[in-house]
Amino acid sequence: MNKSMSIKRNILLNPGPSTTTDTVKLAQVVPDICPREQEFKSVMNRLRDDLLKVVHADSNEYAAILFCGSGTLNIDVCLNSLLPDGKKILVVNNGAYSTRAVEICQYYGIPCIDLRFPIDQRPDLNIIEKTLQENQDIALVHTTHNETGTGILNPVREIGELAHRYNAVFTVDTTSTLAMRPIDILKDNIDFCMASAQKGLMAMTGLSFIIGKKKIIENSRHNPKRSYYCNLYRQYEHFEKTGEMHFTPPVQVIYAAVQALKEYFAEGETAKWERHTWVFNALHAGLERLGFRNLIKREWQAGLVISVIYPDDENWDFSKVHDYCYEHGYTIYPGKVSQTNTFRLCALGAIDKNDIENFFKVFKKALEINHISIPVKYNT
Ligand SMILES: *Cc1c(COP(=O)(O)O)cnc(C)c1O
Repeated sequence: MNKSMSIKRNILLNPGPSTTTDTVKLAQVVPDICPREQEFKSVMNRLRDDLLKVVHADSNEYAAILFCGSGTLNIDVCLNSLLPDGKKILVVNNGAYSTRAVEICQYYGIPCIDLRFPIDQRPDLNIIEKTLQENQDIALVHTTHNETGTGILNPVREIGELAHRYNAVFTVDTTSTLAMRPIDILKDNIDFCMASAQKGLMAMTGLSFIIGKKKIIENSRHNPKRSYYCNLYRQYEHFEKTGEMHFTPPVQVIYAAVQALKEYFAEGETAKWERHTWVFNALHAGLERLGFRNLIKREWQAGLVISVIYPDDENWDFSKVHDYCYEHGYTIYPGKVSQTNTFRLCALGAIDKNDIENFFKVFKKALEINHISIPVKYNT
């Protein structure tokens, strides 16, 4: 097979999976291998070590645990595995992904306080503290770093500080920040963070991972076992004993993740974040030129997802605009906000300056052929 074959390049402006490099795509084409072989265990071992480096986690204290599945699996695993009997989870909830965490608790029948804040606001630390004070049985606090549904950045360092002050474990859904917006697991007061390979790492779907404190995982073996497949301690113990996933890993996807990490370290944490920031600012500039409005205050945005409010134009039809962009190689994405009609543009993936400039040519054309007025109009 010719490794230099050309693959059509699509620009994904959706919130993951992200645009990947051809070298990552092609890294999946490997000789067949049984994942129980030592050679494959070594590949996974190095991958787990490299994942720790992404969030600056000390390998004496933290472990990376891999799972086969999409990112939601990580939330499921953390919440069902890390709560001792007779205790409660507090979810700091200002959006769709924290709501998903609450739903997971409900499915398992796990006692949970759903502490809701408006989706376009940051959570109020005083209310979080008051809730912790009044509920001494909270043993785990969970929130989302970048609420991908809106693009709002939550103050995880401050929430983590509060969680620890009240002796709770702090788990953070970092699926839409990890390997993009720099994370320092210790300084950010995070006990467990998580992601799937197809977002910040710009690898393939099907591999997810949790990075967390070994001591807490080891203590969690005394907790009720609420799931057979999705138990954190079981998977951790299996890795420690054998160097393998408990059940069949996504073999080829793991080779892609190894290549993606190689490219991650070659680009560098700071340079990569600067590139995403450049793309994010260019998306804002392009939207502004066309007159579009944001749902979330600019200074609260995590720098990766923009929620754009639908214009008040009788010709506005998201699916028509989407379809035109899609036919031309650019994927835009609907919103995830129930009260307001929004769509999203995201700065994830292996994209750069030229891609955004070319995107706006196509996007503008999509507005024009659908007779949507430019600048777009809003009634209020
Ligand atoms: C993408 C994402 C997930 C995972 O979604 P899947 O569809 O299961 O991959 C979880 N949390 C956040 C914040 C996300 O952005």
